[in-house]
Amino acid sequence: MAKIKTMCGLGKKDIKKLKDELIDEISKPKFYCANCARVSTSKKLLCKPKKI
Ligand SMILES: [Zn+2]
Repeated sequence: MAKIKTMCGLGKKDIKKLKDELIDEISKPKFYCANCARVSTSKKLLCKPKKI
């Protein structure tokens, strides 16, 4: 199974491919990206993480 490297770098194709992992990742977010408005449970996946 493919793995998410970063939330910020995901393209449309990646989003389709990684749908299930993404749902886990964004369902209970702890951080958001101040650059890209993405959310994640891990700040490592965001380029400019801010705590929610
Ligand atoms: Zn970002």
